[in-house]
Amino acid sequence: MPSPQKIIVVGAGIIGASIAWHLARKGASVTVIAAKAGGEATPNSFAWINASWGNPEFYFHFRRRSMAEWSRLAADIPGLPLSWCGGLCWDLTEAKLEAYAAQQGGWGYGIRRVDRETSAALEPHLANPPSFALHVAEEGAVEPVAAANLLLEDAARQGATLLYGTEAGRLLQDNGKITGVATRDGALLADHVVLAAGAGTAALAASVGIDVPIETPPGLIVHSRPCPRLLNGLVMAPGLHMRQTAEGRVIAGSDFGGTNPGNNPQKAADELFAKVKAMLRGGDTLELDFYTVGYRPTPKDGFPIIGGVDAAPGLYLAVLHSGVTLAPLVGSVAAAEIIGGYPDPQLSPFRLSRFAQSSE
Ligand SMILES: Cc1cc2nc3c(=O)[nH]c(=O)nc-3n(C[C@H](O)[C@H](O)[C@H](O)COP(=O)(O)OP(=O)(O)OC[C@H]3O[C@@H](n4cnc5c(N)ncnc54)[C@H](O)[C@@H]3O)c2cc1C
Repeated sequence: MPSPQKIIVVGAGIIGASIAWHLARKGASVTVIAAKAGGEATPNSFAWINASWGNPEFYFHFRRRSMAEWSRLAADIPGLPLSWCGGLCWDLTEAKLEAYAAQQGGWGYGIRRVDRETSAALEPHLANPPSFALHVAEEGAVEPVAAANLLLEDAARQGATLLYGTEAGRLLQDNGKITGVATRDGALLADHVVLAAGAGTAALAASVGIDVPIETPPGLIVHSRPCPRLLNGLVMAPGLHMRQTAEGRVIAGSDFGGTNPGNNPQKAADELFAKVKAMLRGGDTLELDFYTVGYRPTPKDGFPIIGGVDAAPGLYLAVLHSGVTLAPLVGSVAAAEIIGGYPDPQLSPFRLSRFAQSSE
């Protein structure tokens, strides 16, 4: 029997966790290296699982496939904190909501138009339910750090080695091929190195001359102290996106990607939290516990970068925003590509090479 392929995954956020888990399930010899267990962007995420408005059709379908993959993962990982709680959305003009419902509904998204009475029934604590909104029952959320940790613990049970608190300084290369990573404790060698290092991906790729064009916009999310249930699902109101976590915290941003923290994040958090309180009946009892500022690893054209790199065989990239929505599908498809060695056509729009083509 051939010996299993040795694969280093750099990153223990939701993307590295999902890739490592899928690789371990396929019998690979996996080592996860991460400066921080649970990720960097992942703990600061709003963690809405969706294929909502504003996406072109190919990307909509990719996201929707990943939504289905979350249910598959939940069947394999007991206790995964996943909730198909549905999303109530009215943060667009009525004309834009109608256009979204017509387009994405036509692509198969389960969108329902709802009036004030139904909005109030869905979210009885809204102080002023919208007279017109869209409800998507198939949307949901996951507690992303718990999910990443459960995936990594299960990968470890299947033989994966988890090296937390370990910084990868640079990639190692021999005759063009990527052979491992250098850490402060020495070199780690492998057949493949997967960079699922979020905002850290660009610097590691640059160590072998590969340009990974990403931006890292900041986003502030407020977290209340845990409280009795005030929200049943995701609420996307104008200027305020909210949900209540599994442990009962109401979390919110001025949009799911977080509020711009500006140069006074505490002030931004206080103003945002005041809006949350005003939006909810019973909200006056809410207390702000803390706020987070996360940096979304966002490829410059907004779409994921996933796949091998022709100029550096042995290197595999997985850097994306909407990583919480996309983690199960990216993990499964990436693991199959790395181990099987064959490109999966559903990843063709997401290769790094598109940037070289667009600058020609
Ligand atoms: C405010 C905000 C709201 C968001 N809302 C949503 C949402 O509603 N829905 C959604 O789908 N997505 C959302 N996202 C995006 C999503 O959270 C990210 O796409 C996802 O968390 C990225 O996960 P990741 O594993 O790629 O990166 P990260 O979580 O950033 O993890 C990177 C990992 O790499 C490690 N690392 C980096 N460099 C090195 C190195 N040199 N050596 C060793 N380890 C290294 C880090 O320690 C960490 O473990 C949001 C993000 C933010 C910030």
